[in-house]
Amino acid sequence: MQGVLRLTNPVQPYAWGSLTAIADLLGRPAPGTPEAELWLGAHPSAPSKLDSGQTLRELIAEDPVGHLGSAVARRFEQRLPFLLKVLAAAQPLSLQAHPSLAQAREGFRLENERGVPLTAPHRNYKDANHKPEILCALTPFHALCGFRRLDDTVRLFGALGLETTRLASGLRGYFEWVMTLEREPRATLVAQVERACATPPPGWERECGWALRLCRAYPGDVGVVGALLLNLLTLEPGQAIFLPAGNLHAYLEGVGVELMANSDNVLRGGLTPKHVEVAELLRVLDFTHGPVNVLAPSGAVAVYPTSAPDFELTRVTVAGPVELPRRGAELLLVTSGQVRVNGQTLARGQSAFLGANERGAVRLEGDGVVFRATVGVGE
Ligand SMILES: [Zn+2]
Repeated sequence: MQGVLRLTNPVQPYAWGSLTAIADLLGRPAPGTPEAELWLGAHPSAPSKLDSGQTLRELIAEDPVGHLGSAVARRFEQRLPFLLKVLAAAQPLSLQAHPSLAQAREGFRLENERGVPLTAPHRNYKDANHKPEILCALTPFHALCGFRRLDDTVRLFGALGLETTRLASGLRGYFEWVMTLEREPRATLVAQVERACATPPPGWERECGWALRLCRAYPGDVGVVGALLLNLLTLEPGQAIFLPAGNLHAYLEGVGVELMANSDNVLRGGLTPKHVEVAELLRVLDFTHGPVNVLAPSGAVAVYPTSAPDFELTRVTVAGPVELPRRGAELLLVTSGQVRVNGQTLARGQSAFLGANERGAVRLEGDGVVFRATVGVGE
């Protein structure tokens, strides 16, 4: 038993990050350079720190069964199975998808057998784990997520004066064709899309506006065609999307809380200067098309339902005392107001870890909003 352990969390300064959002959340001056992600967890490359100076990763490694609980320690290889982030995007991120557990295991093994170094820029699988993720908006959050209903995309492409015969005969074939075009026809297609989007057909102004922004951010990148095939969403604060294996997505702009399985496996589909391996992306992509299921649970204790066994996200609105039953190891992050967690005060931007060996319910008091990350209930 060691109570509520306060965390100090590393910031990732990726170029697409917001200049102000993370500093604002943490209540400190903005550094004048981008701050993209705040990481809460025990990830080897950037673990959270405890007041003792020890990292959360070191603490858990000393006694995985005590801190995680025996079932979780056994199932997730003695590691915290999730990573919680605050993501603050001022610019669009790459178009990407994540593998299933079976795909990740096989891909990781094959790359090891081929002798591809873990740090090589063309390495696809950094580990053997899947990486489902959920993103919950803290501000209005723009994202591309999953393929739009094919009929609607055919209508859009027709209205833009783009070729639709190949598209209408199937998303997989069309996407593969686009991604494997030679340099010259590829440049022609991207230029054609850019020209067409400059005069948006009625009802498609937002989609075309984002396409133009992507063209300017990544000149000549064929990912803009992929982006035009996806659902464009604006999540309101408290709304979330779950991104299961194979879902093609791109975060465009906004601040959100993101919870994911403990993995780095990303297969990119463009809108990036980084490695894009088309064959591997096509192997994992799910071409199911249709509207996105936006998660918007209500109530003071709002649980976001997903199929991921690795994690569960809960948003707790504290206006008086709230008692939550324990669910093993958990991370808590206050995103507004001030909340006492088992008597310890956490202000906005502050966070804590509670190990599985901390007994009794979690008692929250005060006035604010807390995000809670626990292990999932799914098998
Ligand atoms: Zn992702």
